[in-house]
Amino acid sequence: MRRSRLVHHPFRKPSLDQMSMQAELTAQAVLERHFGFREFLDGQEGVIRSVLAGDDTLVVMPTGGGKSLCYQLPALLLEGITVVVSPLIALMKDQVDGLTAKGISATFINSSLNDHELDDRITRMMRGEFRLVYIAPERFKSARFVSALAPLSIALFAIDEAHCISQWGHDFRPDYLRLKHALREIGQPPVIALTATATPEVRADIITQLALDRAGRQPPHTFVTGFARHNLAFVVTRVRNKGEKLERVLEATRAGGTGIVYCATRKNVERRIRELRALGGDCVAYHGGMTNEQRTRAQTRFMSGAVPVAVATNAFGMGIDRADLRFILHYDIPGSVEAYYQEAGRAGRDGEPAHCELLFNYADIRTQEFFIEGANPTRAIIANTRETLIRLCAQGPIHMSIAAIAKSMIDIPNDMAVATALHLLERAGFMRRDYAPGERTYTTELIKPIKAPDSLAIDYERLDAKRKRDELKLRRMIDYADCPECRQYYILNYFGDTDAGDHRVCGRCDRCRSRHTVREGARLPTADETIIIQKALCCVGRLQGRFGRGRITQTLVGSRAKEVLDAGLDRQSTYGLLAEEGSDFVWSLIDALIAAGCIAVSGDKYPTVTLMPLGYEVAQGQKSIPLVMPARRPSPGVTVRRGKSGPSTKLVRLGSPQVRAGRKAADTVPDDFPASGPAAAVLERLKEWRRRKAAIMGGVPAYIIYPDKTLKALVLAQPRTPEDLLLIRGIGPAKARQFGKETLEIIRSAMKLS
Ligand code: ADP
Ligand code: ZN
Repeated sequence: MRRSRLVHHPFRKPSLDQMSMQAELTAQAVLERHFGFREFLDGQEGVIRSVLAGDDTLVVMPTGGGKSLCYQLPALLLEGITVVVSPLIALMKDQVDGLTAKGISATFINSSLNDHELDDRITRMMRGEFRLVYIAPERFKSARFVSALAPLSIALFAIDEAHCISQWGHDFRPDYLRLKHALREIGQPPVIALTATATPEVRADIITQLALDRAGRQPPHTFVTGFARHNLAFVVTRVRNKGEKLERVLEATRAGGTGIVYCATRKNVERRIRELRALGGDCVAYHGGMTNEQRTRAQTRFMSGAVPVAVATNAFGMGIDRADLRFILHYDIPGSVEAYYQEAGRAGRDGEPAHCELLFNYADIRTQEFFIEGANPTRAIIANTRETLIRLCAQGPIHMSIAAIAKSMIDIPNDMAVATALHLLERAGFMRRDYAPGERTYTTELIKPIKAPDSLAIDYERLDAKRKRDELKLRRMIDYADCPECRQYYILNYFGDTDAGDHRVCGRCDRCRSRHTVREGARLPTADETIIIQKALCCVGRLQGRFGRGRITQTLVGSRAKEVLDAGLDRQSTYGLLAEEGSDFVWSLIDALIAAGCIAVSGDKYPTVTLMPLGYEVAQGQKSIPLVMPARRPSPGVTVRRGKSGPSTKLVRLGSPQVRAGRKAADTVPDDFPASGPAAAVLERLKEWRRRKAAIMGGVPAYIIYPDKTLKALVLAQPRTPEDLLLIRGIGPAKARQFGKETLEIIRSAMKLS
């Protein structure tokens, strides 16, 4: 799904003066010959086409999406030098070495060079010895350097980490603001700006700050692509209180293996850690209030795999490259979708399935609102802080903590807002602060003459605008929690990912799943039905995206129709696999698999079917999901196959004659309860819940809750209502009152997930 192989045609030819021997090579050939890749990753092809056409291009791709190729490949096809501005000075040498190893001439210019080396490199650049030159942004401070570049023939000016130019980005670098000027000096070469930061507002800012939409330029082609994470399952769980949150955390940490629990505040981290450890959890804490030493130690223990779970604030993130995180759980709602996706996106870097869950409770929104107020104080708070300081400092400098200053103010609930106000007042030249080494409390002193409120250099409008923006971001995050549609789709749509359009369902998130599973009449397939389903899914997978439902059905039933033979489908390994089932059955089965989110249909005129990630898991036997199974026709073959293809689970359903006759369902528990398959998976979930419950109840023995036999009876009977429960042996009214609701919930959700 990630790769595109559509590149059999050469790119649009570059303009005549760009034609060189090399330009005649197609991008595809360069990709194979110089980079050793066979296919483009999502989005690369379109970007490269835009760059080769000489257009300004803005690329938003997540980290690891393959941004470098978007300028490195054109560098080999365009005539002239490709300049690459990158703030990652530490990585420049590696990048250059990597290119050199591929036979591509490249070099870098940054502050690690002495004057002699610098002159040497500039001279060699002039002689055209390099195809790519990496340049650190601060070099553009030097007017001499910029004028030395001016005579060069610069084919492409690539700006990596382009969000650094935006003050709204998370990594603003003033040096980037000089690039606009440099571009003018060197004759406005075509620009490619690249970033992984997907907020629409940062994107707009990049264009403005580089003046890409001015001076007669067409606005750049913008590509936002590659944000979909096909292995992540997004889930939002509504929780009413801390107890429910703790249960979910325990469940995730027990079931999920390695992962991170993100909390909004340090206090929350501390509390969660205490609770988890009390219950035997193995976890490290990480937040900004810990000493450097403590943090390094926590990070090392987590990264080395010594401890499976980290409970952390968003301070934990930079440099986490553990690829095998199986879950990211948000204990509190974060302030924006970008923050959420960045943190959740740390799960499953290895491409294996991973779980991203947000625990959502409306009351938690208050914490984020508090942060927003704190980061963006109102004019009134700033005025109040100013007056308070005048009062407090009447007798000279004061030595007071921020909290103490806040306390001495009238009507001020939020310390953080006071801290921000103090910072703004200091920057505006109203007062100065000093603190002795080793101390955390400032000495604050007013600067005389005392500035009047109107003469303070504080941009209130900007503060207000930022507050509004932050509020809007939080709103969109809350919308994520509430959204009725596919969660992954919501996120892609939020970022404006151009790939989001086709597939409005991911098939993995809670929304997609519930849509498929609450379907009337859906049930878990039996063992031999499972095999049939797997065969059908395999066929879809092999013919991935090339044929519609009709052709797939014909292939599976082994049709001799002309169109089947013409397409060579009779040579497929899945040809005729479901011959005995008949085409009506197979057609309906494919319908059911589409409804269940295992298969997607796309295209209007000639719709084709493709295997979804969920379908892949089902095909691999990793998952079993409830389906509306079509009826199989009685045929001689059916009876023969029964019993041959593995143990079939006798599902004694409630409402069955035995149950109606007054016998309790538990009486019918067969001795040969299956050791694997869907029933076993549901049983495992129940046991997991029982373990957790037993721990919460102070470590009572498991059978106090339910003995194994009752659990098995529950699995087989699949009760849906409290009345159903009472029909099961071992469950009386007291038990049903105590555990009934949870039991039913577990069974319901396990049937969905297993
Ligand atoms: P980004 O800068 O977007 O974080 P990189 O340019 O470093 O990503 O690329 C990420 C990885 O993907 C690198 O290992 C790179 O070699 C690889 N890569 C890039 N393009 C392709 C491709 N077309 N096929 C296979 N791998 C690729
Ligand atoms: Zn979804």
